[in-house]
Amino acid sequence: MEVKFYNSYTNKKEIFKPLNPENVKIYSCGPTVYNYAHIGNFRSFIFSDVLRRSLKLLGYKVNHTMNITDIDDKIINASISEKISIEEFTSKWTKVFFDDIETLNIEKVEQYPKATEYIDEMTIFIDKLKENNLVYEKDGSIYYSIKAYENYGKLSKIDVSGMKAGARYDSDEYTKEDARDFVLWKQTKLDGEKFWDTKHGKGRPGWHLECSAMIRKIYSSGIDIHTGGIDLLFPHHENEIAQTCGAYPHEHFVNMWMHCEHLLVEKQKMSKSLGNFHTLRSLVEKNIKPSSIRFLLLSSHYRTKLNFTFQSLDDAEKSVSKIQTTLDRILTCLNYDLSNLKDSGKMEESIQNFLESLADDLNTPKAIGIVFDQLKTINFRLDQGNTDKSELNEYLFFFQKINLLFGFLSFEKAKEEILDDEVLKLIEERNTAKKEKNFALSDKIRKDLLEKGIILEDSQAGVKWKRK
Ligand SMILES: [Zn+2]
Repeated sequence: MEVKFYNSYTNKKEIFKPLNPENVKIYSCGPTVYNYAHIGNFRSFIFSDVLRRSLKLLGYKVNHTMNITDIDDKIINASISEKISIEEFTSKWTKVFFDDIETLNIEKVEQYPKATEYIDEMTIFIDKLKENNLVYEKDGSIYYSIKAYENYGKLSKIDVSGMKAGARYDSDEYTKEDARDFVLWKQTKLDGEKFWDTKHGKGRPGWHLECSAMIRKIYSSGIDIHTGGIDLLFPHHENEIAQTCGAYPHEHFVNMWMHCEHLLVEKQKMSKSLGNFHTLRSLVEKNIKPSSIRFLLLSSHYRTKLNFTFQSLDDAEKSVSKIQTTLDRILTCLNYDLSNLKDSGKMEESIQNFLESLADDLNTPKAIGIVFDQLKTINFRLDQGNTDKSELNEYLFFFQKINLLFGFLSFEKAKEEILDDEVLKLIEERNTAKKEKNFALSDKIRKDLLEKGIILEDSQAGVKWKRK
């Protein structure tokens, strides 16, 4: 199947041709571990998860890296104000990050390198850039001279002709769209600040340098795909290219750059001052299910802006519930016996369409549309009541396949569905009482069950129950 992705470098959808389909090298910019990640960060992490899971579904083997930034201005300032070491501070927040990705069912990638473990590689990088006359020193820090690198701006298409000579950025982060020389090695400034004593002086690396150094060390040569949020395209990724291609001009770096768009909250940029800032934890505390958050984040196409609202979370919860309810119907009919699962090809067309949507630049909205079309057919067949085991197993196969992308479906009996014998007996007795028109007894049993937390609902299809 032809796989196409949109390459931010060429601004075109291109056929994906990894150097080795058995070892697809992917690098995704990861978190800076100093705080709870917000929902916008998770959009980017879910995007790289969708990419990873889709490639696996399409038959590739992936070798994926996500960096952990455990040194930067924010981390230094916070650890000084909390009077704890950088290591103590960042290990706490790294654990929070891993807990959060588990909550969202984001697959673990193969490597999670930490910036502080790559200081030697970064030092070598600066040596190489020095050799190639791309850096200069100023007040004890080392900067990259972007004027000296002729291809600067090719990814972001930024015009560097108007840049102020010698204008520099010391900070790790700058978002304004003006090009400036960026820091590779920062001289230590604050008392108590973490530093490394290297041949480039006492200091610490600039943020951009870590990704270039890690990619070099882990993959030795170039990679197939580099991902990140669109806010990283400039300057972070532009600077990564300048560093790697500046240091190793004759080597291949990144084949395809993929960026996911912004997440807006109620059509506005998320900010603490607007009061629309959501972390994963703050949403879970509001009793929002992680599966609804995951579904919402993966259901809109990664290259479109996602407008996050509580209504859209509600809708996502309904969608997840519709998929799970149909799956539960099948599982109930099969008495939760998954041992006869087989693929005799009856769902081939649907699965093929699902995969083709993903192969078309990760078109998740289309893939989800195919799933909902299929749900209609399956529910129609289940309503007819004459499905046999082999047909049910085919449907189950379909659900298992789509769950390799979704990751939130459950194939086990939910705990709340398991009723103890006493409750089952009471439901039976009430059914009998109703048939015998003994309404006093039937009402009494209903009340008794309510006290046990079981709500009964009479419907045309018979009595249904749910927990309070
Ligand atoms: Zn990066």
